[in-house]
Amino acid sequence: MLHDDARFDTRAIHAGQAFDPTTGAVIPPIYQTSTYVQDGIGGLRNGYEYSRGTNPTRTALETQLAALEGGIRGLSFASGLAAEDALLRTVLTPGDHVVVGNDVYGGTHRLVRRIFGAWGVTHSTVDTSDLDAVRGAIELGTTKVLWVETPSNPLMKISDIAALAEIANEAGVVTVVDNTFASPALQQPIALGADVVVHSTTKYLGGHSDVVGGGLVFAAGQEELADQVQFTQFAAGAVSGPFDAFLTSRGIKTLGIRMERHSSNAQAIAERLAEHAGVARVFYPGLASHPGHELAARQMSGFGGMLSIELAGGGEAARRFAESTELIQLAESLGGVESLVNHPWSMTHASVRGTEAEVPESIVRISVGIEDVNDLLADIDGALARL
Ligand SMILES: *Cc1c(COP(=O)(O)O)cnc(C)c1O
Repeated sequence: MLHDDARFDTRAIHAGQAFDPTTGAVIPPIYQTSTYVQDGIGGLRNGYEYSRGTNPTRTALETQLAALEGGIRGLSFASGLAAEDALLRTVLTPGDHVVVGNDVYGGTHRLVRRIFGAWGVTHSTVDTSDLDAVRGAIELGTTKVLWVETPSNPLMKISDIAALAEIANEAGVVTVVDNTFASPALQQPIALGADVVVHSTTKYLGGHSDVVGGGLVFAAGQEELADQVQFTQFAAGAVSGPFDAFLTSRGIKTLGIRMERHSSNAQAIAERLAEHAGVARVFYPGLASHPGHELAARQMSGFGGMLSIELAGGGEAARRFAESTELIQLAESLGGVESLVNHPWSMTHASVRGTEAEVPESIVRISVGIEDVNDLLADIDGALARL
């Protein structure tokens, strides 16, 4: 049985994951079903009627998500962007305004700019590590959402969640933190004052690059918003399927131990890259030279597995580096056990080229996996030698 005061790794393994009472199976079964038999018309068993509304495998994951983030409710969606869309569609109406970080995930910026923009929602793109810039961007009465991503993508900027939540709270603005990069193992936005936490569970929570999904977790005090978003989830339908929910729950059980290795490997690689003349800058919060290092050390319990570099040789050198690692494969996405390299300008952030959120061509992003660090360092050395 899971006690209320159980610590993070224990919650990750046990929350929502009680054994099957029928057989004693340690792992709860995957309820691969669309519908449920009724004991007479309206005679639902535990409220289960149709799987767009509720499915026990999804409920298990949603319970686990809420427990990880210290929230009152979790909701699981077909993708991170589906989760973001359901949240924004519930909070906003045409005429409202959103303040969004200037190097958030490219798809988040595109969703706000193109889908919500077309619906009559305006936005300001600001550096959320600059508190005055955020204060200045909030339009009292019109701004409804402050969207924060920290560490940011791909420049690993650190924003002060507690200070931002206070600013937003005073202005009646909902603070949303995209916690995908840090994961709840390293950062707890709700404890710092966030109202809603967003995840692409595709990344560290799933952790094995084998499932696409998204999640929302609501802080205490946000029960009404959680009910409303749950209605949007049911009525608009972007739910995660039972097998995807199962894979995500399975991944979450090793999150704590994976994040430790992601962090120690990334620290070693960041230090190696920082020594090379071909690398103009390393963006990793674990380096003392990083402008957000002290804040990250306060706000996070580890620095995570994501880092970016700026190549001294510009866009051409960045492309060459990204294409010349051998163990570290060239692909979009992040957060899996295997290391991946990405050229944001041409890949993950191509959709924000020409906007305020554009990423320089000289940047390469690495999602450091949990392989043996010596093999990763050898691969990095090989790519640097070819610059
Ligand atoms: C990938 C990602 C998303 C979008 O999630 P999908 O699962 O791809 O829809 C949102 N935020 C961040 C930080 C991401 O890395």
